[in-house]
Amino acid sequence: MNRGKICVSVCAETADEMTAKIKQAEEFADVIEVRFDCLRSDQISNLKSQISNLKSDVLLLATHRSAEQGGKSAASIQKRKEFWRSINGKYWGADLECDVFDIFNGSPNRIISQHDLVGVPADLDAIYERMSSTGAEITKLAVTPNDITDCLSIWKLLERANDVHKQFIPIAMGDAGKWTRILGLAHGAFMTYASLEAGDETAPGQVTAKDMIEVYRVKEIDEHSEVFGVIGDPIAQSLSPYMHNPAFVDRGLNAVFLSILVKDLDEFILRMVKPKTREVELNFGGFSVTMPHKQAIMKHLDAIDPTAKAIGAVNTVKITDGKLTGYNTDAHGFITPLKANFGHLQDSRVAVVGAGGAARACVYALKQEGAEVTVFARDAAKGKAFADEFGAKFSEISDLKSEISNLGSDLDILVDATPLGMKGQYENDSLFRADELKGLKFVYDLVTKITDTPLIAEAKKAGIPAIGGLDMLIAQGCKQFEIWTGVEAPEDLMRDSLVARMPK
Ligand code: NAP
Repeated sequence: MNRGKICVSVCAETADEMTAKIKQAEEFADVIEVRFDCLRSDQISNLKSQISNLKSDVLLLATHRSAEQGGKSAASIQKRKEFWRSINGKYWGADLECDVFDIFNGSPNRIISQHDLVGVPADLDAIYERMSSTGAEITKLAVTPNDITDCLSIWKLLERANDVHKQFIPIAMGDAGKWTRILGLAHGAFMTYASLEAGDETAPGQVTAKDMIEVYRVKEIDEHSEVFGVIGDPIAQSLSPYMHNPAFVDRGLNAVFLSILVKDLDEFILRMVKPKTREVELNFGGFSVTMPHKQAIMKHLDAIDPTAKAIGAVNTVKITDGKLTGYNTDAHGFITPLKANFGHLQDSRVAVVGAGGAARACVYALKQEGAEVTVFARDAAKGKAFADEFGAKFSEISDLKSEISNLGSDLDILVDATPLGMKGQYENDSLFRADELKGLKFVYDLVTKITDTPLIAEAKKAGIPAIGGLDMLIAQGCKQFEIWTGVEAPEDLMRDSLVARMPK
């Protein structure tokens, strides 16, 4: 348990809506930030009187952010000064930009704040110095990193503030800075900001207060908590935190799992991970590695497990005493549900469509089981080289349809390792219609969805048993959990928690 606070920031155009949101925020907030700048100007005095009649024990923080600092109001400096002169009583704290700081002295917790909405100032230390010497009880700096290592300067300021017992709120906004919001309290930040609900964020990168408490346990974790995360670009869509965090809790482990946007992998490993060169101590225990870093990570590892070496891609890194070891759990994740649903694979004839990272893990695992594999890919040169590497046959994708319809009895299983059927551009696409699948014994579409992908729907229409990618995702995640922790993964819990968060 740390001593930090969760501040839920609420924004609404009318006083009634704002009061309703304040009531709603009480469930999770230690402090509620009332964003007066969101209100229509005719609503400000209404809200002030509603707040003075409010029966609530939650601490209220008044904010009237200027537009150039990311606020919603275009009020002039005179209007903002008038606002602060009119504020009194009831408020635990006030968030004051530098240009109005001197105006207000009416609360015991004055937060002097500055926001950079486009980048991270090069002179951040000097800015902090100026702000923290104003006499403000708390200093807050918010910056906008483009990549994770851009957050280092603000994180180092937190360490510096801790050393001299100054109250500091460091915020790195956007996806690249989300980790600072989650780990801040564990490392001594005075407060972290959260949104009331998804879609109700008052600044980029805010996590809902419910997730901050229930998923990330931001007030329970501390600097000794082991930090795990999925590293990739993009990463915002990752559901892995909802699978791994409940598992850590269930197994009583002091650990947390984050989505970590990493663009420049080399910089990240050098400046934040490797013991000899890292600039901060975050206590990383390992990573799940996703696109585009599954191959690039290999040169940074101290050891690579033989399966990952043979597949040529690493999706899991475990860090022990500063040493990084790479694994691949995709092959295990892929083959486990296939064997459970289809049975033995020895001598079964399998078509794998695609020649990307997932296809490599599939072909490796199938060959290990003694299956006869043919790779079908649209890029003949790439597909052929890949098939040769694993001792599989190769055919161009255009041949697959005729092969299935003419030689249906020669193929047992179809594995689709392309993005067709995935949310987005290819959502409604299937490589095959039901009548083209006749003769197959099993269809496996790696795309993970709650509902059937178009290919699975076609397979079902043809009466062919079929599975999607959800079981693979869970099986590979369980294996990762076991590699990192040495503890058996709570599979049912991980499945339920993941499914609950999957888009319907
Ligand atoms: P990837 O490395 O980008 O490879 C995708 C492959 O699909 C490439 O060979 C690509 O061909 C081919 N492809 C793309 N569009 C195509 C089209 N319109 N027609 C025919 N082929 C096409 O991606 P990946 O990481 O292997 O992922 C592939 C799929 O597996 C994705 O849907 C992903 O979500 C899924 N997956 C699921 C899990 C799980 O746990 N369930 C794990 C990993 C991946 P080119 O080589 O010619 O570009």
